[in-house]
Amino acid sequence: MKEILIAGGGIGGLAAALALAQKGRKVRVLEKAAEFGEIGYGIQMGPNVARMLDRLGVLKDLEPTSVFPEALIFADALTNEEISRISLGKAFVARYKFRYFVIHRRDLHGGLLEACRQREEIVLQSSSGLKNFTQQGDTVSVTCEDGAVHEGCALVGAEGLWSPTRQAVIGDGAPRQAGHYVYRGVVPDEQIVDRSRIDTMTIWGGPDLHMVQYRLRGGAVMNNVATIASRRFRKGEANAGAPDELEEIFARTHPGVRDNLRYVSRERNWVLHDRDPATNWTNGRVTLLGDAAHPTLQYLAQGAQMAIEDGVVLAEKVAAAGEDYNRAFLAYQRERMNRSARVVLSSRFFGEYIHLDGGARVLRNELARGRDPDNPWEVDWLYRGIEVDGKL
Ligand SMILES: Cc1cc2nc3c(=O)[nH]c(=O)nc-3n(C[C@H](O)[C@H](O)[C@H](O)COP(=O)(O)OP(=O)(O)OC[C@H]3O[C@@H](n4cnc5c(N)ncnc54)[C@H](O)[C@@H]3O)c2cc1C
Repeated sequence: MKEILIAGGGIGGLAAALALAQKGRKVRVLEKAAEFGEIGYGIQMGPNVARMLDRLGVLKDLEPTSVFPEALIFADALTNEEISRISLGKAFVARYKFRYFVIHRRDLHGGLLEACRQREEIVLQSSSGLKNFTQQGDTVSVTCEDGAVHEGCALVGAEGLWSPTRQAVIGDGAPRQAGHYVYRGVVPDEQIVDRSRIDTMTIWGGPDLHMVQYRLRGGAVMNNVATIASRRFRKGEANAGAPDELEEIFARTHPGVRDNLRYVSRERNWVLHDRDPATNWTNGRVTLLGDAAHPTLQYLAQGAQMAIEDGVVLAEKVAAAGEDYNRAFLAYQRERMNRSARVVLSSRFFGEYIHLDGGARVLRNELARGRDPDNPWEVDWLYRGIEVDGKL
């Protein structure tokens, strides 16, 4: 049996490799970087993806390094007032069967990597960036940047936002720059001064800004994320998203919120992108997965979760279609397209919702204040998860 080639060994590529191996397929993961790895910050995982990680057999192993917050809190950044909360306790678990957790990206990626290493069906190959590919008959040939050629029965492009496979399949150029800039920092827990919401995942929303905090690694460190929707970017000015604009936009926030800026590094920022949902990700025996297929803004914290769901569904469809990879990939994209498109578009909406000012902000707070903490209706469709192999 020929190998399925996966370009990209991020969270999405590894989840797909594991899911395909569980279905008895041979897989080769071609990763561009010299080592398989992830950046050193946190990531949120909803019950929809906990369900997938359980199927992949890695959820239990991730538990010791995970943190299970008591609640998701939305607070107003101008007043530091708690506006609403989603409780993550018994009612939440009764509804969704799995818990919400937060984890260090390296722990999540490391858990998937370790599980891949245990499978003899999977070959993990670093320093192997996909340059281009060709298809002939039942073979896909991938040429890597170092000139090496790998032949497989199919190719999954999981190289993230700047995927070269996407350019060959869809050819829609660069992703859309949102004009949002992210500063992050992970600091020892004992450095955190305001401990009033220490056991929660709190997001403060304010005009053109938000701040997120939650603890990682059993509570040993605090993950801090400050994001601005750059006004300079909107006006086409220079230095959009620079550290002085971060200070400028946060200047109106409550001192207790502004104080959290001390925990984020100014050394680098992340420039956020997404893409309008596409109507096709597949060409013959080649398809796309994760950010390569449907990059999203982070406002629902679902990009990696969608990538993991993709991997599980992809493997289900491959197993059902025998050697007909085109049929498998078309069935896979049919199932994944609307769900991931809804995440992309809802994430844009949530970005606007948390960044409101003026009367719109006042109205948002008024409407959100009365919410039932045990009924996360706006994300219910998401957290309920997906059916795989005919069962939830
Ligand atoms: C600020 C921020 C916060 C976020 N928070 C969350 C969150 O809380 N929850 C969540 O689910 N998601 C979150 N996300 C989104 C999440 O990070 C991404 O959706 C996710 O990492 C996508 O995984 P991926 O495997 O598709 O792509 P990537 O993580 O980008 O992995 C792609 C891999 O492919 C490799 N590669 C690149 N080019 C090539 C090539 N030519 N050949 C071979 N390999 C290549 C890369 O080195 C990398 O290893 C957040 C994103 C941001 C920016």
